[in-house]
Amino acid sequence: MTADVVVVGGGFAGLSAATALASRGARVVVADARPQLGGRATAFVDRSTGELVDNGQHVLFGCYAATFEFLHRIGAMGNVRVMPALEVPYIDTLGRRSVLKCPPLPSPLHLVGAVLDWDPMPWRDRLSVLRLAGPLRRARRELRRTGAVTADPPGSVSDWLRAHRQGRKLTEWLWEPLAVAALNQSPEHASAAPFVRVLAEMFGPDAGASAIVLPTRPLHEMYAEPARDYLVERGGEARTNALARLVFSNGRVVGVDIRGERILAPAVIAAVPWHALRALAGAAPPAALAPTLAAADAMESMPIVTVNLWYDRPVMDDLFVGLPGRQMQWIFDKRRAFGDTASHLSLVTSGAIELTQMGRDELIALAAREVADALPLARTARLVRATVVSERQATFSLAAGQPARPGTRTPIEGLYLAGDWIDTGLPGTIESAVRSGHAAAAAVESKRSRSAGL
Ligand SMILES: Cc1cc2nc3c(=O)[nH]c(=O)nc-3n(C[C@H](O)[C@H](O)[C@H](O)COP(=O)(O)OP(=O)(O)OC[C@H]3O[C@@H](n4cnc5c(N)ncnc54)[C@H](O)[C@@H]3O)c2cc1C
Repeated sequence: MTADVVVVGGGFAGLSAATALASRGARVVVADARPQLGGRATAFVDRSTGELVDNGQHVLFGCYAATFEFLHRIGAMGNVRVMPALEVPYIDTLGRRSVLKCPPLPSPLHLVGAVLDWDPMPWRDRLSVLRLAGPLRRARRELRRTGAVTADPPGSVSDWLRAHRQGRKLTEWLWEPLAVAALNQSPEHASAAPFVRVLAEMFGPDAGASAIVLPTRPLHEMYAEPARDYLVERGGEARTNALARLVFSNGRVVGVDIRGERILAPAVIAAVPWHALRALAGAAPPAALAPTLAAADAMESMPIVTVNLWYDRPVMDDLFVGLPGRQMQWIFDKRRAFGDTASHLSLVTSGAIELTQMGRDELIALAAREVADALPLARTARLVRATVVSERQATFSLAAGQPARPGTRTPIEGLYLAGDWIDTGLPGTIESAVRSGHAAAAAVESKRSRSAGL
């Protein structure tokens, strides 16, 4: 069999690349090793309740421009809810509720207004947000000029926040939870540059860029299945249970082998995670690929732990709530997110190395305790079911000393890379995956145009 392009990996990176190429007339075959598309953003059927349960809550932001372009392309913008502005409810360890809410002001004044109006913050902490105005303006300017952001001073997120004298409580309630959610790593360990990049994108000229965007359907239904339909309508296909190996000939890629079948194609996009690239390359990859494979092998991974709890009645008044000072960082009410098709709470802990050492029962007991502490209605409700999803390789590490992230092009003719770990400057997020997918599609398309003599 032949195709114009084979894309290995059916997550956000692979499907955004594949649909971008299909929109320009290419016949694209996507192959994914798993039984279902979606990769690290997918859902599974809970065998007891029959509900579709995400492998972990995913939050998008208004600045996810490439992701929205992809969702528009495949007709899936209706599967996300775009909040009008950044608005985050919190419940503290004493059970007090407060809301950080951006007023309708131009960005970044909207953030300043929200923090200045945030009751639980001591005034010293509220005012400390003003010290970030200068660094953020400089980061925005650098991003516009060079397409990248450096942190000043360099070092960890905590070093950067300390250098800009952010108040202790503002750091614990706003900056650290945002950093952990965006980078999936503790602020003491994660490098500041990707964090400053996230802030520069969220708090640029458009106030809507910092608004929270939530899926309204289980993840694979939200984007992966609409993407598959889009490909099939354009003569392509998306195969599952399709573990692929690259096929090389004379030092270039000529296609892939999938369970004994060879698909020949002049271009292959490897949209697999860092830890899967070596297996995809097979036993004898060309020597020129060795440095890329060695860097991918050396990248470390960070976990995300989710505990799903089913109570015998609704226990939450908010769609989601932040829990400063607790181990479970956020609670999402999936009933409010998905409507009647779900009835569970999802408690998420990012960068959760300690939690991966705990047993299932211990995690469930911790989650139930923290829910009961935070939500009075849960104290009289009965917990009827609980599951734990531990994603040990949720994202790559952003700690100092990690190998440099690779670019789209490789030294091997015909082989392109995509995935959230490609050097987009962003942390391991949906938006990084989609930007990398679009970059790979653009590189393949420019090669196709050159070959066609256009
Ligand atoms: C629990 C959790 C919560 C998260 N929360 C957020 C969030 O709130 N916001 C956010 O922006 N991001 C979040 N992320 C990160 C986000 O999910 C990822 O950045 C994104 O999904 C990565 O997409 P990808 O296409 O690069 O890789 P993947 O989704 O990993 O896709 C790669 C695919 O390649 C396939 N594959 C690998 N090897 C082969 C092979 N040899 N042959 C065929 N197929 C192969 C795999 O099966 C996989 O499906 C979260 C991640 C997790 C795990």
